[in-house]
Amino acid sequence: MRLVWGVLLVLLFTLHASGVEPVQHINKDSIQLKLEQLKSEFGFCKQVPQEIQSVFYTAIGYYPELKDVNIKVRYGNIKTTMQCRPRWDFIFHKKQNRSYVIYIDKKIKDDYGILFKQLPLNAQIGVMGHELAHIIDYSSLNNFQIASFGLDYLKDDKKKHIENRVDLIAIERGLGYQINDFSKYVFEDSGASFEYIKYKMKFYFRPSQIREFIAETPMYYTDNELLID
Ligand SMILES: [Zn+2]
Repeated sequence: MRLVWGVLLVLLFTLHASGVEPVQHINKDSIQLKLEQLKSEFGFCKQVPQEIQSVFYTAIGYYPELKDVNIKVRYGNIKTTMQCRPRWDFIFHKKQNRSYVIYIDKKIKDDYGILFKQLPLNAQIGVMGHELAHIIDYSSLNNFQIASFGLDYLKDDKKKHIENRVDLIAIERGLGYQINDFSKYVFEDSGASFEYIKYKMKFYFRPSQIREFIAETPMYYTDNELLID
């Protein structure tokens, strides 16, 4: 019996030690405290513009399996705030050796969209956490599935399913508050055009849905209490 408890305790300790606890509001000071440590742990095979690094390394800290994955963050002309894709040469590599590119939109076209730099810090970490969750999602797909992913993404119902699945990965990892803050900003505070909000409503969870998922996830409770704005 004592042995069983011993094993259980070790297991609990390991789980606790490897998980990252949810933080409701991540601020500049708390990022600064951990940044160098995170860079030395996760910096291998990463190319990230200097001004994005604090957000990138804070978010990737929630995904320990991305430590050695080749990821490049760059600016581009895209139709949404951010986007993540496997690099074009994925077909020549085993899935564990793939590289990924995360694009950040440079400029809003025709009043359509929200720029990364206009987001509050916690929401920036949320959208970055969402893009990194896409890499976790891609990592579960073989090369043939990746090739057909692009076609799936053109179908409205499949696209919605993929985007919802990816948000759930981020919420399960502990980034629920940040995902919620990004969604709240998009739907309630951004002042984005009606067309863009309609597009977001079609494919993404709304804040009330995100809060429901957070409320169903035990890691967000401290002393049986759920903290959420
Ligand atoms: Zn996405």
